[in-house]
Amino acid sequence: ATPTALMAATGRGAQLGVLVRGPQALEGLQHIDTVVLDKTGTLTSGHMTVARVTAVPDGLGRETVLRLAGAVEQGSEHPLGRAIVACATGVSPRERVRASGSAPPGPGTLPEVSDFAATAGEGVRGRVEGRLVEVLAPDDELPAALTDALRAAEAGVNTPVLVRVDGVAEALIEVGDVVRPGSYQAVDGLRRLGVRPVLATGDREAPAQAVAAALGIEEVHARCTPEDKAGLVRELREQGCRVAVVGDGVNDAAALAGADLGIAMGGGTDAAIGAADVTLVRGDIEALGDAVRLARRTLGTIR
Ligand code: ADP
Ligand code: MG
Repeated sequence: ATPTALMAATGRGAQLGVLVRGPQALEGLQHIDTVVLDKTGTLTSGHMTVARVTAVPDGLGRETVLRLAGAVEQGSEHPLGRAIVACATGVSPRERVRASGSAPPGPGTLPEVSDFAATAGEGVRGRVEGRLVEVLAPDDELPAALTDALRAAEAGVNTPVLVRVDGVAEALIEVGDVVRPGSYQAVDGLRRLGVRPVLATGDREAPAQAVAAALGIEEVHARCTPEDKAGLVRELREQGCRVAVVGDGVNDAAALAGADLGIAMGGGTDAAIGAADVTLVRGDIEALGDAVRLARRTLGTIR
């Protein structure tokens, strides 16, 4: 294609909500035949809300545990973290941002966290009011009271996270999300172009399967660490696939960087956007198929 045609295509992409980092990215876009899609914050809205809190009967209690969990999650960029903070303070994330700086400390204010650490694809930990608080993916050694709640959660679409205080399992928080309306169009568009959609998520099997079933995605990889996602991309490429990855989180950065083409959600983390060749402005995932079609048309690949 001529430089003029590339320029025009880049401009048309921007109109579609697809920001392309240079002509090589457009080149990469035309050839992809497989797209690995992250779930949380990519296929789903990322505006998560707390659906249920189950505390152990003889522990600190729901309210205290939620406050401690919210305090730690203040340091997190993850949609799960934002949902827990919102629930703990009793305001929505957007209201919180608007209020920050101007709002005086009141009943909605969470305690401060120190020694904060986030592990991508795993969870967060920190010290709050002298206690070590961890919010993370549930392990298989839960107290009986939480095992039932976990089993119930696994039958549904919510994502369960475990709260541990000073090493003791205190509560299970179930966080709900919805599929982005644009995801249906995005996945259908890809399929029509002969591009294979694959879902890869750090979340558990049940919520992963629920989202995949809604969208008609047959290939699902659940409980992936960030390394697993990157490994999956490597394997697919070794099989000869031309792989794009779409993601929003710190946990997606390695997979985005290792793909033939990395595509970041516009509302996602800086780590994801920095590792990507293409950014979907404002999370316009529905533009995915249009972008591939545009690249193919401009650069002349007929299939
Ligand atoms: P996804 O691939 O669906 O975006 P992640 O890889 O980011 O999911 O996270 C995988 C799992 O790690 C989550 O389902 C959750 O159990 C846990 N996790 C990640 N970040 C957090 C957090 N900030 N708070 C609690 N749990 C978290
Ligand atoms: Mg994500």
